[in-house]
Amino acid sequence: MKAVVYEGPRQVSVNDVPDARIERPTDVLVRITATNICGSDLHMYEGRTDFETGRTFGHENMGEVVEVGSGVDKVEVGGHVVLPFNISCGFCKNCERGLTNYCLTTQPDPAAAGAAYGFAAMGPWAGGQAEYLRVPYGDHNCLRLGEDAAEKENDYVMLADIFPTGYHATEMAGVVPGDSVVIYGGGPVGLMAAYSATIKGAAKVMVVDRHADRLKLAEQIGAIAIDDSKVDPVQAVLDQTMGLGADRGCECVGYQAHDPQGTEDPALTMNRIIASVRFTGGIGVVGVFLPADPGGPDEMAQQGKVPFDFGLSWFKGQTIGTGQAPVKKYNRRLRDLIAAGKATPSWIVSHELPLDGAVEAYQQFDDRTDGWTKVILKPAMPAGKAG
Ligand code: NAD
Ligand code: ZN
Repeated sequence: MKAVVYEGPRQVSVNDVPDARIERPTDVLVRITATNICGSDLHMYEGRTDFETGRTFGHENMGEVVEVGSGVDKVEVGGHVVLPFNISCGFCKNCERGLTNYCLTTQPDPAAAGAAYGFAAMGPWAGGQAEYLRVPYGDHNCLRLGEDAAEKENDYVMLADIFPTGYHATEMAGVVPGDSVVIYGGGPVGLMAAYSATIKGAAKVMVVDRHADRLKLAEQIGAIAIDDSKVDPVQAVLDQTMGLGADRGCECVGYQAHDPQGTEDPALTMNRIIASVRFTGGIGVVGVFLPADPGGPDEMAQQGKVPFDFGLSWFKGQTIGTGQAPVKKYNRRLRDLIAAGKATPSWIVSHELPLDGAVEAYQQFDDRTDGWTKVILKPAMPAGKAG
């Protein structure tokens, strides 16, 4: 089958790889109909992780079930499903508590927790930027969709990662109706955090980035755009909140945070968010930070150490939540919002391409080229076609 294969820093190819297949009775085999490129793929694409060459990318997956193992009860051939990017078992100590983001059995490294499709350091699982995907513990991991699966495909595929991840940022930050919320990062995840805050009834949502196209999308849902290449974003948030700071903050950038000129500083957004959020406020950090970053800008960064203003944060009595999002905690509810027509996260989609469009798409999305906000790959689309 065809798949998007990592060949080394800033190089992907669309190549033949061994077919995905049922390997255990609890597996489900899915024909991928839609699979997104994520900001998390870019850390790997840029060679800033230990993702092995020859592996397949793709953790934001949706498709049609074509085969089920003999131990699968609920999921049926012909049904349409969306898969959380986290792969989890449902029965380990963490899954039992709903923490499927830190599953202990699908991650073979006993010193680690949490698994994902096509992801560095998150288990051996193949990615779904391919024609087919093997889904372990299929009954547990598949979220079934209704008859509108194809019609609302571009909405439902966002349930694999970025919509629940943005929502999780607002949950960790503690967003409730009437809150003011600042979001650092206007990429797909930041935009989904802004969207989630809006759905939850936040009174004021502010999005900080420097890409005009992304800030414009934020404004489309009523958020206030703050361009940090033009103004001091902390001062702009204080000005919007009577000098107090926002009630809540969401960090949606991660360790590759940089200034508008491109100089990396992994502490930049953390320190700005601490300064932008009020005393006793809450902060949700879904941007990825890593225990080691050999390609980081200095020795501290290379060791995964981030000199963030813990003293100021402590002094302000802020609470901070971090980590991978437990997609399963939210995907069913968010699916029902989409089905009811109350959420349409596809508003951020800029490109729909066949699998062979991946080579260009990775390059453009990595360059944050104007207008390339979110790419969906559709393996059934004829090669060379763009939508
Ligand atoms: P993206 O790279 O497309 O977007 C990041 C945005 O941050 C860009 O628009 C960039 O201009 C902006 N940015 C960079 N430095 C900034 C700064 N100093 N201030 C403000 N904005 C700045 O990525 P994405 O798909 O939106 O993902 C964002 C982060 O979320 C990534 O780190 C990704 O790995 C992570 N992520 C985490 C989870 C999770 O479960 N925790 C899930 C998905 C993605
Ligand atoms: Zn993702």
